[in-house]
Amino acid sequence: MGPPLTPRPEDGPVEIADRVWWVGHLLPDDVFQCHVYLVEHADQSVLIDPGSVLTFPSTVRKIEKVIPFDHIRYFLCSHQDPDIGAALPQIDQMVTRPDACLVTDWRSAALLKHYGTNLPFWLVDSHDWQLDLGGRVLDFLLTPYLHFAGAFVTFDSATGTLFSSDLFGGFTKEPRLFAEDFEYFEAIRPFHEHYMPSRDILGHTLRKLDRLDLKLIAPQHGSIIPRQLIRPIIARLRDLECGLYLKVENDTDIERLSRVNTALRDALKALVLHRQLGGVAPALVEAFRPLLPVTLLDFYVLDETGGPIHLALRNDYRGAARPPGPEICQLLDSRGGADSVVIHDGPAGRRLLVPLRPPSADYVYAVAVLHLADPVDVGPEIRNVLAEIAPPLQVAVESELMYRALDLKRVEMYQRSIRDPLTGLHNRGYLEDAVDRLFAIHDRGATPGIAVAMVDIDHFKRVNDTLGHARGDVVLREVADVLADGTRRGDLAVRLGGEEFAIFFVGLTGGGAVEAAERLRAECSRRTSKAPESTHVTISVGVAERQRGEALPQVLRRADSALYAAKAGGRDRVCRG
Ligand code: GH3
Ligand code: MG
Ligand code: MG
Repeated sequence: MGPPLTPRPEDGPVEIADRVWWVGHLLPDDVFQCHVYLVEHADQSVLIDPGSVLTFPSTVRKIEKVIPFDHIRYFLCSHQDPDIGAALPQIDQMVTRPDACLVTDWRSAALLKHYGTNLPFWLVDSHDWQLDLGGRVLDFLLTPYLHFAGAFVTFDSATGTLFSSDLFGGFTKEPRLFAEDFEYFEAIRPFHEHYMPSRDILGHTLRKLDRLDLKLIAPQHGSIIPRQLIRPIIARLRDLECGLYLKVENDTDIERLSRVNTALRDALKALVLHRQLGGVAPALVEAFRPLLPVTLLDFYVLDETGGPIHLALRNDYRGAARPPGPEICQLLDSRGGADSVVIHDGPAGRRLLVPLRPPSADYVYAVAVLHLADPVDVGPEIRNVLAEIAPPLQVAVESELMYRALDLKRVEMYQRSIRDPLTGLHNRGYLEDAVDRLFAIHDRGATPGIAVAMVDIDHFKRVNDTLGHARGDVVLREVADVLADGTRRGDLAVRLGGEEFAIFFVGLTGGGAVEAAERLRAECSRRTSKAPESTHVTISVGVAERQRGEALPQVLRRADSALYAAKAGGRDRVCRG
């Protein structure tokens, strides 16, 4: 017979391990179920955490289905709270054997004595933290807990059962005697986040348990943890943030506090995990969602020139110039003690403005803007969370701006490396890279054709000779502009060197390219004829259509021959090779 998952008050004792019995009593509508356990060991039996006056009569009935009450010699109290010790006066009345005693530690004894019982104390700390029942040894471990620095747990090595008192306890809305799956961690989480003052203290306790071969954990509250869940639960507990009650005073809704804590932890994790704001911001929106109906998170910051930059989802958080509204300008201008959050209701709804200040600085570096779907109130716990994430968020925005400056520099350097500084057209180096891509598209048959036009300015030497080199440069730029303006986006115009250019017409066959080149030639003649000084120049063009599979030097050579023919034919004309 397997143990019932949800024992009802009328259910009997449940043997949870070999001669270890659950003899508790589930109170209706109580998230704090209090479990009592019986270690059955003939007339040296132990009753662990006997319970309160509310549950004790039911516990006695269960005990007596297992052993006569008189077989219990030891009444063990893990601490002094009434849900453990209030039944002691009743026990005092029932006990008849002279060797019965109360097992506890010195700190608990100092308080348990106020229940006014006559039972003598047997102190674990005076007995080397061990009780030998005669062939079965119980070990005790000091595991300080928030409400009691002297709390301890009891380990029955015969069965590997840890009677863990408040440790591993949980709030269970629907009582379950046994935890069924890892979901039980969600019941444990708020219990420990709230009761444990710090992760250090919880960690210290968990390390002590490491050396035990745990097969079953039987806490006083919540559910009994079977072996397969013990390690995963301990692993998660090690990561738990504790001391939740420190966050907000006078707040007893600890499940909400737990949500706040989880949001804060997720938010901080997002800030650590993502290197760029484009990763941080959506992760923060997700982290805040259990607390606030956040739809978007964006930022305003002044760049090094003092211009406002908007870092938002729409620009992938890389930043774009965009003036903020007056409420944000006011914050960006402010110094010193502004609030951790300013609520702003505008036409687009409620937004929370969080000023971000550099560490130990008194000015606002940036403003984080949380857009809300509903105009909800912002309680002190949310203000606390925002105040806690503001400093790391400031660092994230600052580094994003650094990345942005580096990126802009990189783009600028790249552009410089691929363009001819005089004309702004692409240079020969870029041509060789780009042509690989263009020719691959052509070879796949993804474009009807590619044609090359070689362009050379006619009698350019004369311009230099008569008007000077500087004037020659202006003419070169004018011709380059004609070529750039007269080609389409996907085409490629390159200054090969000197007064020679090449244009790659993508999608054109020879005939189309001749027409296009002819337009360029005419336009060049027209534009330069308007020049103030007599710098009217013409160009000669040689066109060749690329054959599929043809390499760059070959097609350039054919275009060059056509250009030669154009020169030989009298210049200011287009020839096709
Ligand atoms: P043709 O009609 O046969 O092409 O005659 P051309 O005078 O244009 O031919 P050539 O190749 O003999 O002369 C090209 C001149 O272009 C020579 C060189 O001084 C000039 N040049 C090359 N690069 C630049 C430059 O960057 N700026 C200026 N101002 N002149 C340049
Ligand atoms: Mg030349
Ligand atoms: Mg020339």
